[in-house]
Amino acid sequence: MFGLMQDWPLLVHKIIDHAALYHARREIVTRSVEGPMARTTYGELALRARKVAQALDRLGIKEGERVATLAWNTARHLETWYGIAGMGAVYHTINPRLFPEQIAWIASHAEDRVLFFDTSFTAVIEQIAAQLPAIKLFIALTDRAHLPQISVPNLVAYEDFIAAGDGDFAWRELDERAACGLCYTSGTTGNPKGVLYSHRSNVLLSLVASGGDALGVTGRDTVLPIVPMFHANAWGLAFLAPMVGANLVMPGAKLDGNSICELLETERVTMTAAVPTVWLGLLQFLEASGKKLPHLKRVVIGGSAAPRSMIETFETKYGVEVIHAWGMTEMSPLGTLGTLKPGFEELPYPRQLDYKVKQGRPLFGVELKLVGDGGQEQPRDGKTFGRLKVRGPAIAKGYFRGEGASAFDEEGWFDTGDVATLDEDGYMTITDRAKDVIKSGGEWISSIEIENLAVSHPAVAEAAVIGVHHPKWDERPLLIAVLKPGKAATREDILNHLSGKIAKWWIPDDVVFVNSIAHTATGKIQKLELRKAFADYRLPGVA
Ligand code: ADP
Repeated sequence: MFGLMQDWPLLVHKIIDHAALYHARREIVTRSVEGPMARTTYGELALRARKVAQALDRLGIKEGERVATLAWNTARHLETWYGIAGMGAVYHTINPRLFPEQIAWIASHAEDRVLFFDTSFTAVIEQIAAQLPAIKLFIALTDRAHLPQISVPNLVAYEDFIAAGDGDFAWRELDERAACGLCYTSGTTGNPKGVLYSHRSNVLLSLVASGGDALGVTGRDTVLPIVPMFHANAWGLAFLAPMVGANLVMPGAKLDGNSICELLETERVTMTAAVPTVWLGLLQFLEASGKKLPHLKRVVIGGSAAPRSMIETFETKYGVEVIHAWGMTEMSPLGTLGTLKPGFEELPYPRQLDYKVKQGRPLFGVELKLVGDGGQEQPRDGKTFGRLKVRGPAIAKGYFRGEGASAFDEEGWFDTGDVATLDEDGYMTITDRAKDVIKSGGEWISSIEIENLAVSHPAVAEAAVIGVHHPKWDERPLLIAVLKPGKAATREDILNHLSGKIAKWWIPDDVVFVNSIAHTATGKIQKLELRKAFADYRLPGVA
């Protein structure tokens, strides 16, 4: 017997309709790509989203077809998402930090039919347009006055594209399981793989993630998603902010410490989210300028491990609560959040930090388990490592066009490729990406833990630990560090700093100082490149 409740499909455009009706005057403020700040409201944005849908419909875009975006976080980008999804097509976010040939590869693989782009990426479009015959129209997210003068015949300015419509467009009645969004993971091994979100998975993730013990976003918040919309759905913020009626501040192309600080201050942002490298820039700017963060209440740090020193600085020096988050593109993307359990706030602060530095507890709808080499489930004792597998309604069950099928097992678990521990309280700690784990004498060393400690040295800005070949131990850790501007430290200073804080056999065999460390398109340290660069590195004492 079924229940007698209504079948009200969970569709993302219902979010923007709700916002337009009940939070019509709440604002979306954008640092526009053209330069000036641009202000709009959910009421206006919802109307313009319908104009996008109308224009795509006129162009002949059909349900299920992919419409790409190559764009920063802006109100226009958000309008395209809701317009595309609401007319039954699939928004496909492409990461503009990828190489042009990778962008072209992804757009062909996805069979994109339209491509919206910010004028910052005009050169890329000019380079790849001819390789993408399936794309009917390239739409520059600007007005006619700023339309780039390039030799792409099927090019139009966004404001012209939507101008013909009046916004009188009925959203399509879709099955909630219909495809809604597409995002390719960076594919550090093999080609990028497409994660295809459904309307249902996006709505469910937003409902769960906005909860009080999760991101805790309310209508009284002003949210600055620095995490790009092209990086795994901006961690759900593009849906959950309108859902609750929070103001949105969209940073556009400028993500440096100074520009972010200015937005936090002038727009009185209360909550923001980004990867650690962005926070590194902001904290360095604050230190140099002496500025404070009077309005900001919460900052979400994820995508890579949040170092303990970073969490502590935000909380004790600037009075901003840190929520450490772990997730993946394949998980919509949130998996765990490091909020404290009841009673933990009574613990001495260093003990609280022990929990905050872990990657956190699963949201409702995220099942976690650890699996050993033989496939057996590992104990949740906070010590035993295992490969982390996940299952849930906002987690991928396959990749677009059947790629990468080996990551999914017959019981529906997805292998994250992360190695982790789980403790009795449900907190998960990432040891490493499986491919980054350092195996020394048959035992594992966590590069993340050593990196975290290294950056707590006052002179170290950023650190990466990789395994380097060793004739006796197979691999030994090498620490590669970038010093803060104007600061000095020696190999011995760094090793002394680590000494006593980790097992003796985890202490790196050597320290190398470099001017900078390269990051991936999603802001992670490029360990693959470092491993290549240091492949022939001779550790001290090795002949
Ligand atoms: P991409 O793989 O495209 O760079 P994802 O965001 O999907 O982008 O990457 C997910 C991976 O990022 C996770 O599997 C994990 O290895 C790493 N990661 C994400 N958040 C954290 C975190 N808080 N701590 C450590 N690693 C993290």
